[in-house]
Amino acid sequence: MPERVVSDVVCPFCGCLCDDIEVVVRENRIVEVREACALGTAKFMSLSVGERITKPLLRVDGSVRQVSLEEALKEAAKMLADAERPLLYGWSSTECGAQAVGVALAEVLGGVLDNTSSVCHGPTVLATQDVGCPSCTLGQVKNRADLIIYWGCNPMQAHPRHMSRYTTFPRGFFRERGVKDKKIVVIDVRHTETARLADRFIQVELGKDYELLAAMRAALKEYEIPEKVAGVSRKDILEVVELMKNCQFGALFFGMGLTMSFGKHRNVDNAISLVKDLNAYTKFIIMPMRGHYNVAGANTVFTWETGFPYAVDFSRGYPRYNPGETAANDVLQNEECDAALIVASDPVSHFPAKAVKHLASIPVISIDFHHTPTTEISKVVIPAAVAGVEVEGTAYRMDTVPIRLKKVVEPPEGCLPDREILRMLLEKVCEIKGVETPVVKHA
Ligand code: SF4
Repeated sequence: MPERVVSDVVCPFCGCLCDDIEVVVRENRIVEVREACALGTAKFMSLSVGERITKPLLRVDGSVRQVSLEEALKEAAKMLADAERPLLYGWSSTECGAQAVGVALAEVLGGVLDNTSSVCHGPTVLATQDVGCPSCTLGQVKNRADLIIYWGCNPMQAHPRHMSRYTTFPRGFFRERGVKDKKIVVIDVRHTETARLADRFIQVELGKDYELLAAMRAALKEYEIPEKVAGVSRKDILEVVELMKNCQFGALFFGMGLTMSFGKHRNVDNAISLVKDLNAYTKFIIMPMRGHYNVAGANTVFTWETGFPYAVDFSRGYPRYNPGETAANDVLQNEECDAALIVASDPVSHFPAKAVKHLASIPVISIDFHHTPTTEISKVVIPAAVAGVEVEGTAYRMDTVPIRLKKVVEPPEGCLPDREILRMLLEKVCEIKGVETPVVKHA
C-alpha cells in the first residue's frame, strides 16, 4: 500500500506550534505521527479513529436529524439574524482567515465577539495594555537565554515540547552546550513535573504571587524585605533575584497560575514590571504560555479589524471593549445574549454552570469537527474540516510569530473549511438583513 510522508508539518494543538512534525499518510488516512508530543499526536490520530461529525445536524423538538448544508446554513442564518445581541465565541482553534470572517459577521449582526483568551490570558492582555511587554521570539530565547523561569505554568503537561524545542534542552548559537549553559527556575504553588527538571524550585503560597513579585522588585532595588514573603524565605528571594540580575539573557514564562489566581492582571502587571526593572541590569524578557494553538492569532486578527483583542461588543453599531461587561461569560451569566455561534470551541465543558445554564436556554449553532457537550445543546451543528490538518491557513505562535499551517489529508466529503462555512453564513445573514455583504480582506 503506497505511503507518503509529509514533512515540516505544523502541529495545530498548543501555542508552541511545533513546525517539524512528520506525518505518514496511507490512502488519505494518517497512520503515523513523528516528532510530535503525545498531545499533538493524539490530535492528528483522533481524526482518523475518533467519532467525526460529517453531516450537518438540526435539532427539532429534542430529536436530531441530518440535513443538507444549505438547510443548516439557512436555519443558522435565521437564528442569528433574528437575535438582538448574539454571542460569537471560540475562534482560538481555527486559522486566521476564519477569524477575520467571524469579525465581519459579528459586525453585521451587532453581536458580541469573544475568543478563549477571556478565560485564560485575558488578564495578560489587560496588563500589557497598561504597562507594555518586553518580549522577543522563541528563537531568540533558544539561542541566547541562560536563565529560564517558569512561573505558574507546567509545560511538561501543557506544552510538552516547549522545554526541548525552545528553552531548556536545545543548543543555541550562544548556548552551544545546551542545558549545561542554562539555569532553570520554577515558581509554583506545587511541585510539578516541570519543577522536577528545574535547578531551583520556589514554592509560593496559593494566591500570593503578587506579594512575591513585589518582594523581588523591592529586593532588586535593595530595599529591606521581610524574613518571609508568600511562604518564601528572604534568603531564597535574594538568591533568585541575584540569579536574575547576573544572567546574560533571562526569560520569564508564565501561565494561568498567574493570570487566573487572586490578583489576575495585577499579578501580570507586577511580573512585567519586574522584568522591566531587570533590564536596568541585564537583558530580560517575559512571555505568556498561550494554550490554544491560535489564541494569539485570535487576539491579533480581532485587534487588526476592531482595535480590540477580545470581548468586542458591536451592539451599539461600533466596536466597544469592556471585559467584565462584554466578555462571553459576562453576557451569558447576565443573560444578555439571545443566540450563540460557537466556532471550534466547547464552552459547555469549561464555563461556569450559570453561563452554561443560559447558553442551554438560547439557540446555539456549533461549527466543529467532533461531538462535544456544546454540540449536544446546539440546535444546528455544521461539520468542518480541521485547520492545520485538512486545511491550510495561518496561525500565530505564543511569541506572535505567524506560521503557515499545512494541509496533510483531504477532509471527509462535505466538510468545508471554517472560513468557507462562515463566508456562506455571512452572505445569508446579509441577505436576510438586506445589507451588502462586506468584503473580508484577510480571509
Ligand atoms: S508541544 Fe504543542 S505544538 Fe508541539 S507537538 Fe506538542 S501539542 Fe503540538
